[in-house]
Amino acid sequence: MNPVVLVVNSGSSSIKYQLLEPETGTVAASGLVERIGEDDGAVAHRAGDRTVEHRGPIADHKAGLRLVFDMFTETGQDLADVGVRAVGHRVVHGGEVFYEPTLITDDVVAAISALSTLAPLHNPANVTGIESTRELLPGVPQVAVFDTAFFHGLPEAAKTYAIDAELAAAHGIRKYGFHGTSHEYVAGQVARLLDRDPSHIDQIIFHLGNGASASAIRAGHPIDTTMGLTPLEGLVMGTRGGDLDPGILLHLMRTADLDVDGVDRLLNRDSGIKGLSGVNDFRELRRLIDADNASARLAYAVYIHRLRRYLGAYLIALGRVDAITFTAGVGENSPDVRADALADLELFDITVDPALNTAKSRAPRHISPPDARIPVLVVPTNEELAIARSALQVVDSAG
Ligand code: ADP
Repeated sequence: MNPVVLVVNSGSSSIKYQLLEPETGTVAASGLVERIGEDDGAVAHRAGDRTVEHRGPIADHKAGLRLVFDMFTETGQDLADVGVRAVGHRVVHGGEVFYEPTLITDDVVAAISALSTLAPLHNPANVTGIESTRELLPGVPQVAVFDTAFFHGLPEAAKTYAIDAELAAAHGIRKYGFHGTSHEYVAGQVARLLDRDPSHIDQIIFHLGNGASASAIRAGHPIDTTMGLTPLEGLVMGTRGGDLDPGILLHLMRTADLDVDGVDRLLNRDSGIKGLSGVNDFRELRRLIDADNASARLAYAVYIHRLRRYLGAYLIALGRVDAITFTAGVGENSPDVRADALADLELFDITVDPALNTAKSRAPRHISPPDARIPVLVVPTNEELAIARSALQVVDSAG
């Protein structure tokens, strides 16, 4: 029997999870706990073609996980009996401390918790998920997989912010980058699709989901990425605006009476596509654009403008490129975004084939014409699978 791994992605008020076989990618069960701490909590658990649901208050993460574990039992997959080899936890910020998948101990939990100053929205929620799972599944090894890890070795010039060097050093200020698990997984899939050795190709990846980031990868190692100290930098996202003149914040704090929490809300929740158009989902944005809504059109134009700015920057940073790849919710499902991001770049040998771009498929695929010098690809990401594989590897090598 192939080993199974439980992957847990614990957010501030939600938990996403999957039980899967790292060797085959087969998903035995998956689900989502939502609105933890609120009266209208919900769990939807899917095992095979069966879906079990729960509605009602969910006090905290542990209560949510307990419900999930009950649902596993209800669908005939009691987690105590199915032989879970490891639990893999997505952890957002590893700081300078963690840059490899790490077996979780009390010390590791304390260190992840201590990194909360760098990721106040994410690390505390990750820790809560880890602690609850450890209590509910004692004896099963747990592994933390860090969103920042892949970008740990960014070149000095790419990771350094040009501010007071002593202040930066004292507060751990550098570009860390995020979505690393996805960028690393997709980079590997690109190499497979092209039938090339990953250490021989240079590539640009656009991970466009609710959060969005791009990376420039030379010979398997990232040389730049758009997200920074926090996941706020870079591309325009669902509710985050990406790059801003930092002077805007000073100006708003002085003139619009915004305090730290107000700035936090503005940057994390009320900006990006949502801030400009009122909606944050690309399907809704498309509907508004089709209805000729001017704010939606502008939001889309700003989004595309920013993508192209980084495409240009990364083409120059790499000097050559073997593939340009789109992944995640928007990247995989929005042909318009792909076509517009790469429009009118024939001079650079970058073209998108309209028929291939709009063809429906879930498989990794080319969307550039067959004779294109620079392949343009769509490669579905699978962070859960990547986390499960890393977790299994850590547990296997720990004996
Ligand atoms: P995250 O993991 O960052 O929460 P995803 O990678 O799942 O996000 O991407 C979610 C986003 O993908 C949605 O908000 C939506 O904008 C976009 N999306 C999903 N499906 C489609 C689709 N069929 N067409 C266009 N956009 C889509």
